[in-house]
Amino acid sequence: LISRKWKVEPTRIDLGDGVIIGEGQFSIMAGPCSIESEKQIELVVQHLVENNVKIMRGGVFKPRSSPYAFRGLGLEGLQLFHRICRENGIKIITEVMQVSQIEEMIDYVDVFQVGARNSQNFNLLDALGAAQKPVLLKRGISGTIEELLQAAEYIFSNGNEKIMLCERGIRSYENAYRNVLDLNAVPVLKAKTHLPVIVDPSHGIGLRDYVEEMSLAAVMAGADGVIYETHQKPEEAFSDGQQTVNFKESERLIRRMRQAYSLR
Ligand code: PEP
Ligand code: MN
Repeated sequence: LISRKWKVEPTRIDLGDGVIIGEGQFSIMAGPCSIESEKQIELVVQHLVENNVKIMRGGVFKPRSSPYAFRGLGLEGLQLFHRICRENGIKIITEVMQVSQIEEMIDYVDVFQVGARNSQNFNLLDALGAAQKPVLLKRGISGTIEELLQAAEYIFSNGNEKIMLCERGIRSYENAYRNVLDLNAVPVLKAKTHLPVIVDPSHGIGLRDYVEEMSLAAVMAGADGVIYETHQKPEEAFSDGQQTVNFKESERLIRRMRQAYSLR
């Protein structure tokens, strides 16, 4: 169902209020790795509004490698996130980690993110298929293109066609950076499916100094959008600060991505 052979026209996902994801648009989704406080949400929202960015990312349920790391503000954080974004016309994308969270989160979310670690959580994918909210599905940490497509098929075959695929870097032997952002995936996925393809350069390279270059490369590779991490003070971020750009860098990144897209 997710194949171009089955449906030739590109899928476009309408989040309402004129925010549409898919071919013909370039979507920017930006925000902190984790939602941390009311003040932080306000600062990020202000930054996004100033730059005409319509979608904010931020985790409230965080999959952390260590159980002692910050694991997110949970539902209360999401409610705060939702209130401030709604007041400012910003859409929300946030990660859902398990089936039981879908129901409590659904009224506060515009796009459910499925993280790399849950990319083959088939019960979660089934449930998101039934839930009828847009889903951004990340590629698994060592996931193949075929596994990503099959994961999307789980959601689609349960009745939810509002899916975007996300390349977020794959694990390799290389340790000079966090992951290897596989930009090969962009044209290949675009050829194989009608679904929008989004790139996450922050997790893809894991080092803030190179997020701009990899974002521009993603644009030129044909991505329908980019999702990246930004924070008012990346050095103080509760998670992923090393790959998070500040607002000045983010502003420049937004400008340059839009320029690059206009040349595509
Ligand atoms: C995130 O977006 O902060 C995240 C945890 O991403 P991933 O699932 O790609 O590691
Ligand atoms: Mn992160």
